[in-house]
Amino acid sequence: MAPSRPANRPQVKPGPPLPPKGATQASGASAGGPSRPANRQGSKPSAKSSSSPATPAPVARVAPRQRPLSSGPRRIATNLYSATGKRTIRELDAREMRVLLRVDFNVPLSDGKVVDDSRIRAAVPTIKALLEDGASIVIASHLGRPDGKVVDGLRLRPAAERLAHHLQMMVPTTGDALGVGTEDAVKRLRPGELVLLENVRFHAGEEKNDPAFAAKLASYADVFVNDGFGAAHRAHASTVGVAGILPSYVGLLMESEVEALSNLLDKPSRPFAAIVGGGKVSGKVAVLEALIQKVDLLILGGGVANTFLVASGRSVGKSLYESKMVEHARRILKLAAERGVKVLLPVDGVVAKEVTRGTEFKVVSTEKLPASWHMVDLGPDSITAMREALGSVKTILWNGPLGVFEIPAFGTATRELAKLAAEKAEAGATVVVGGGDSIAALQQLNLAGKMTHISTGGGASLEYLEGRDLPGLAVIPTAGSPFETMPILWEAPKPEKKPAPKPKAPAKKSE
Ligand code: ADP
Ligand code: MG
Repeated sequence: MAPSRPANRPQVKPGPPLPPKGATQASGASAGGPSRPANRQGSKPSAKSSSSPATPAPVARVAPRQRPLSSGPRRIATNLYSATGKRTIRELDAREMRVLLRVDFNVPLSDGKVVDDSRIRAAVPTIKALLEDGASIVIASHLGRPDGKVVDGLRLRPAAERLAHHLQMMVPTTGDALGVGTEDAVKRLRPGELVLLENVRFHAGEEKNDPAFAAKLASYADVFVNDGFGAAHRAHASTVGVAGILPSYVGLLMESEVEALSNLLDKPSRPFAAIVGGGKVSGKVAVLEALIQKVDLLILGGGVANTFLVASGRSVGKSLYESKMVEHARRILKLAAERGVKVLLPVDGVVAKEVTRGTEFKVVSTEKLPASWHMVDLGPDSITAMREALGSVKTILWNGPLGVFEIPAFGTATRELAKLAAEKAEAGATVVVGGGDSIAALQQLNLAGKMTHISTGGGASLEYLEGRDLPGLAVIPTAGSPFETMPILWEAPKPEKKPAPKPKAPAKKSE
C-alpha cells in the first residue's frame, strides 16, 4: 500500500520512548543512536529492528479525521479571535492540501544529537492538527548559521529523529531543500504524510529573501503556515518571501507565544517584575528600555548587573561589563526613577579569581569589589532581597541567568530564582521565561514544566517585547481576511556582517 519511495528519501523512524521525567533530554536523544545508519534507507516500517519491543511500529502517515465533505476550502471559523490578530490554522480546512510549514528546529546539538528538543516538541500540536485535518506537510526550518553553504554538522537529520519520536511516525528528510529528488518527494506526499526539507540556510537565497528561492519553496505547497516563532523576527525567504506567494496562516505555537508575550505587555497582573541577567547588556538595552515603561520592579543580575553597578558609581574589578553601555544603563536607571520603578542591583556577590571551575571564590559586598576578581554570581543578601521583593509579585518575566551558572559553584542565584519562579507559578502568578540559557537552567532543575510559558524564541521574544513588528508575523493576513498578502518582498534584511571596506588608495598589486 505504501508508495515506493525514491532512494534519496531517507526515513527517520521514531526513536525510543522518552526517558522518565527527570532524565535529561540529552540521554533521551543518545539512546536512539546506534541504530541510526540502519534507519537511513528504511522505506518500510520494520518492527523487528525496533530497539525496544514495546515501541509500536512507526507509521508513515496519519489517517485524516472523518469529516463531511461539504465544507469548503477555507473553514469559516466560528471564533476569529486570535492573539496574533492573524489568520490561524483554525481558519484553514487543510484537507487534501499541501502545506509548507515553517518551524524553528534551530536546536542545540552536541555530537550530532539534539541536546534540548523543546522547540521540536513545541511544533508538534500544529503538525498533528494539520495531519489529522488531512493535509500533507512540507516542513522547512533552519539550523545554525551555515551562511548559504552546506555544512554537514548542521543537517536537520537529528531534529527529524526527535520529531519522529514525538509524532511516533516516520519523518523523511530530503538531502537538500531544492532539487529534483526533493520535488519528487514532495509530489509523492499523500494526505497525512510529511517530509522535512534540509536546512534552508544551506541556500544563500534564504537569508537574502531571494524571490526565486521563495518561489521554489512556495511551489511545493498550496498554503503556507508559519509556526516558527523563533525565526519570525527574520525577513527571510521561508518566513516572509513565501507568505507573499501562498495563502498564509500562523500556527498554534506562534499564536501561544504571541499570546503569552502580549498578555505581559498589555494586561499584566500587578505587581509585575522583570528579572534580567545574562552576559551582556548590549543585546538587552532595547528590551530594558521597553520594560521599564511596563514593570513595577526590575531585578538585575549577571554581567548585565555589573554594567549597571558601574553606571551607579561602583567599580567591578575584572568582572564582565560593557563600558560602551554604561551611559545606556544610566539612562535606564534615570527612567526607572522617573517612573517610580524599583530597581534591585546586587548588594553582594560571589567573586572568583578566574571564571573557571575549581577556582578560589568568596562572597563580598558590591560596595568594595576587589580589583583583581570577577563577580560571577549574586551573593546571599542579594538572593534574600530578591526573594523578598518578589513576595507580592503577580507577574514575572525572566530573561538571562543571574550568574555563570554553567559552573555549578556560581549557579546558586540562578537555581534559587528558578525554584522561586516555580513556587510563584504554582501559587498562581504568571511566570514567563525566555532565553536559551535561562531555559537550560530551568531544565537542569526539571522546573521548566512549572512555568506559565517558556518562550521558544530568544531573539524573537526580545524583539516582540521591545514593541517591534516581527516580519514573519506581520506578513500574514489579518484574522478572517479573505485577502492574501500582496507578493511584496518585505524590507530587505539588514546585512549582519559588513564586508571589509575596500581600500581607497590605488592598489599596488594588480589582480
Ligand atoms: P539567555 O540565553 O537566557 O538569554 P544570555 O545568553 O543573555 O542568557 O546570557 C547567558 C550567559 O551569561 C551565560 O553563558 C552565563 O555564563 C553568562 N553570565 C551570567 N552572569 C555572568 C557574569 N556575572 N559574568 C560573566 N558571564 C555571565
Ligand atoms: Mg544565550
